[in-house]
Amino acid sequence: MFVRDPCGILCIIVTYLAVFYADYVVVKWIVLYTMQESLWCPLHVIAFNTVVLLLMMSHLKAVCTDPGVVPLPQSRMDFSDIHTGSGSEDCDERDDWTVCSRCETYRPPRAHHCRICKRCIKKMDHHCPWINNCVGERNQKYFIQFLVYVGVLAMYAVALLISAWAYDCPQCSNDMAIKQTRILHCVILGLESVMFGTFVIAILVYQFQAILDDETTIERLQTSSHRRNTKTFALLSQVCGKSHPIFWLLPCHNPPRYSYRRDFLVDHEV
Ligand SMILES: [Zn+2]
Ligand SMILES: [Zn+2]
Repeated sequence: MFVRDPCGILCIIVTYLAVFYADYVVVKWIVLYTMQESLWCPLHVIAFNTVVLLLMMSHLKAVCTDPGVVPLPQSRMDFSDIHTGSGSEDCDERDDWTVCSRCETYRPPRAHHCRICKRCIKKMDHHCPWINNCVGERNQKYFIQFLVYVGVLAMYAVALLISAWAYDCPQCSNDMAIKQTRILHCVILGLESVMFGTFVIAILVYQFQAILDDETTIERLQTSSHRRNTKTFALLSQVCGKSHPIFWLLPCHNPPRYSYRRDFLVDHEV
């Protein structure tokens, strides 16, 4: 299954360009430039390229693996009644099968419809443009592997940058133009590594929290926004009254009645 999403295809190209650029700068401008004579040179080249290879393999797996697409029914079922309703996704029920009005099929609990893939995905976490695919039941492992290798690669690049800066070699070229080119490449690599590294570590932490809570990203967002909405409503209704929010704008509506006021009246009425 290959998703024809321009944003996703662009993100894949950017990912590959970023990885190849990092590999080029690390090998040519850091390792070969500063430690050519030492044994560290082949060791770092092999180690860095091994991580690059593992990153590419896990990325390719995450891109090409079916995330858990819910199969369409063999024969067309009659779902004309659900089109007349609200038509929105009815995916709040976690314990039961639901119906997707877009795929016109039944889907297992925790499956969600992806607007970009145009299909329902089992245990869908989110749609990730960086892999141009949904993260679901069957490819989440590869997605996490990809994140881990991006994080390792970014930290490795930063460590090499710092060590190359600290131990400036005596046999390095004194040509000003070469030195400037090297500085430029190192600055770009540093920015790239810090940017992608932080981004990936943040997503990894979020992914692990969600996995340990046995929730997908979608479910996590739904519960937290539900909690937030309930709290917001409770606070606003203290000021505006317990009626439907639509009446809060009417100046003639009754002000909220506080319980202590009622207690006071009751006391005096007795
Ligand atoms: Zn669907
Ligand atoms: Zn998707």
